[in-house]
Amino acid sequence: MATKNKNTFEFAPAPESTGHIQLRDQYDLFIGGKWIKPKSGKYFKTINPATEKQIATVADASEKDVDLAVKAARKAFKGWSQLPARERGKYLFRLARLIQEKARELAVIESLDGGKPIRESRDIDIPLAAAHFFYHAGWADKLDYAFPNRSVEPLGVAGQIIPWNFPLLMAAWKLAPALACGNTVVLKPAETTPLTALKLAEIIEEAGFPEGVVNIVTGAGKTGAAIVNHPDVNKIAFTGSTEVGKLIQRATAASDKKLTLELGGKAANIIFEDAAINQAVEGVINGIYFNQGHVCCAGSRLFVQESVFDEVTTKLKARIENLVVGDPLDKNTDIGAINSKGQLETINKYLEIGKDEGLEMFQSSCAVPKKGFWCKPTIFTGAAQSNRIVQEEIFGPVLAVQTFRTISEVVQKANNTPYGLSAGVWTDKGSKIFNLTSQLRAGVIWANTFNKFDPTSPFGGYKESGFGREGGIHGLEAYLKFND
Ligand code: ADP
Repeated sequence: MATKNKNTFEFAPAPESTGHIQLRDQYDLFIGGKWIKPKSGKYFKTINPATEKQIATVADASEKDVDLAVKAARKAFKGWSQLPARERGKYLFRLARLIQEKARELAVIESLDGGKPIRESRDIDIPLAAAHFFYHAGWADKLDYAFPNRSVEPLGVAGQIIPWNFPLLMAAWKLAPALACGNTVVLKPAETTPLTALKLAEIIEEAGFPEGVVNIVTGAGKTGAAIVNHPDVNKIAFTGSTEVGKLIQRATAASDKKLTLELGGKAANIIFEDAAINQAVEGVINGIYFNQGHVCCAGSRLFVQESVFDEVTTKLKARIENLVVGDPLDKNTDIGAINSKGQLETINKYLEIGKDEGLEMFQSSCAVPKKGFWCKPTIFTGAAQSNRIVQEEIFGPVLAVQTFRTISEVVQKANNTPYGLSAGVWTDKGSKIFNLTSQLRAGVIWANTFNKFDPTSPFGGYKESGFGREGGIHGLEAYLKFND
């Protein structure tokens, strides 16, 4: 996308082919530093969503396998938590370096398994994953400075359940602070995108981590639930749907497990008439079409001040005609494949709902491949607060556009959803930015930019978007026990 995130981290050059990547045909579970077959003997397929072809089979972990992983993590906890903190930092640093070295391979695997454009995997997901490990390597021996005059200790075994939209990056967001603080981990990637987490397990082996410090178990919701319900897990960190987040909240309510949830969103992106319109249009395109809109903080609701509505929508429509939809491994691609058949069905259902609600739908006229899961970039205009496509998270490349006249009107509309993860404001006036940021109920608010991420910045939601923060000093708190 033209407004691609420019971050300062190194990245590998674009892969021209997939020839150099090393994938196994079958993946077992990474438990106690060893690759172990699932007790049930069951494996599931992971497919390439752009071709529907199988890439590999992956172990389906049962409750018994999860129990083994938790035991391995518990056994490793004493040694890991008592290691001099600077040594823990060195492991994280080594891991970050190895991720950088293998960035090209990881980027290809991420795009193959998940469908995202290689340019995004290469420029954003993988370098940011490395950056999270670098950042937290630095924290490991500075926790006393982070929390002066407070007595802190690690929680123990952390269970981490991650989604399919940023597979390696979400693994890094969760693993890096947990390990820096001295916890050990059982991590479960999503069932449609397990491969970069499994590759990370190989890298963790190569980095020489003590066995059992990181355990990676694969499987679907049942495997996740087994982690959540295991009595010897001290912390659950979950990123995923609000629906599953609520289940997890209920399941852990009577336990002493520490819980953080990063759930859905329905972010408002707000354009004032005094904004630099071309820049704002690019920001809106990036805000909603980045990663096919599979982004919890996606700017899926656009509010345009009435006087610039025609200009903005005309420019948006022209711009989506130029977006390249297709092969995720082609470095010219802007919009890759929808992650799974199920997700495509969900998105298509919402397109029908939008049309049934009487909204005007505009789609790019591009052709999409016959095989695979695809959705053209879509804009609905004439949307109102009561429309389901305005209230509900679609998690696809679908933008709902509304208009507004005054600040108080747009604040009221922007806040009027069950979610509160992020928001964006486009204006030339600094005073408007400060005015709005104090009134918008969202955990992250971007001004004259969108979808910018950095390990130093806390990320997390209000309302049904969850609680707890990841990143920055706030992210460490989620993995520590405060004894005072
Ligand atoms: P989506 O609906 O977008 O696939 P989910 O919230 O279902 O998102 O998935 C996010 C992660 O949660 C995945 O790793 C998935 O396997 C896991 N998961 C799904 N159901 C449960 C559950 N009941 N308990 C724990 N984890 C679950």
